[in-house]
Amino acid sequence: MNVVDLRSDTVTRPTRAMREAMLAADVGDDVYGEDPTVNGLQQRLADELGFDAGLFVPSGTQSNLLALMSHCERGDEYLVGMDAHTFKFEGGGAAVLGSIQPQPIVPAEDGTLPLARIEASIKPVDPHFARTRLLALENTWNGRALPLNYLQAAHDTARSRGLGLHLDGARLFNAAIACDVPAREIARHFDTVSVCFSKGLGAPVGSVLVGSHALIEKARRWRKVTGGGWRQAGILAAGCVFALDHHVARLADDHRRAAFLAGRLREIAGVNLLGQFTNMVFIDVPAKHLRELDVHLREAGVRISIGYLPTVRLVTHLDVDDEGVERVVEAFRAFFAGR
Ligand SMILES: *Cc1c(COP(=O)(O)O)cnc(C)c1O
Repeated sequence: MNVVDLRSDTVTRPTRAMREAMLAADVGDDVYGEDPTVNGLQQRLADELGFDAGLFVPSGTQSNLLALMSHCERGDEYLVGMDAHTFKFEGGGAAVLGSIQPQPIVPAEDGTLPLARIEASIKPVDPHFARTRLLALENTWNGRALPLNYLQAAHDTARSRGLGLHLDGARLFNAAIACDVPAREIARHFDTVSVCFSKGLGAPVGSVLVGSHALIEKARRWRKVTGGGWRQAGILAAGCVFALDHHVARLADDHRRAAFLAGRLREIAGVNLLGQFTNMVFIDVPAKHLRELDVHLREAGVRISIGYLPTVRLVTHLDVDDEGVERVVEAFRAFFAGR
């Protein structure tokens, strides 16, 4: 039985067609800047998002790290949501490797960082303080697309205070689809944007950081320093190019399936639907049922990720089809029917 894995959109496996594109890739030594497929991917995404240049890197974590290290120097600080990936889920890399201090900000319910809190967190120029240099946002954030008018306002606030802007756009294209705008309408508010190809876009590996020539040159240096300079990476880049060609528009299918799943789960007594945003569904399940639910779902060929909280996040993606979603609904129904 094909397992329906809702733990994350990172679990997607490259399709046969993507593998064939990877197999056929033209390659060269990317540390010398000579891999045509890598160069093509980098320039294509940069052009599409309205930037000078791009840099292909192994992971979103490294992409964000290189961006932070390119914007900030030792003793500088970036403003970031207190549950943002770039603060909470990247091992403290900016501090560990960049000597950059995070200034976490409590986000609003919708994932925006309130402008007044941003303003209040910017430090005076004074030897007591780290130098506030950068505002880092995330979009989508827990599946939510940040409102476009908020992006404009955050941009204006940051600029008026001399800050750079970085976007962790791991799921930028999900946000663009949710807002029904081209991705560059979101990207244009930022100096650097990081995009993941190994999430819903379905590539096995890779992220691209885009920005100005100057910022991307700095990032290229830090990529080498952090051990991310790679050689015939065109094999991987070809998967990402394939994803841009074939897997962007179809993210809307993931959103539709998530909405369908949310609608069905809402009807099940025992499941408390908290919300559905883009390709993510959030539910609460009585904590006493979590373990048993997990076992039950596994037996039905469904994987979810349960933590110590009653809140469960279900993520749709390329490897979850309509039939898979039906199976998930049935499995939940069967479990709660007897309780
Ligand atoms: C997945 C993710 C990243 C990067 O993760 P990697 O596993 O390092 O590729 C960055 N930001 C967000 C919001 C993510 O979801």
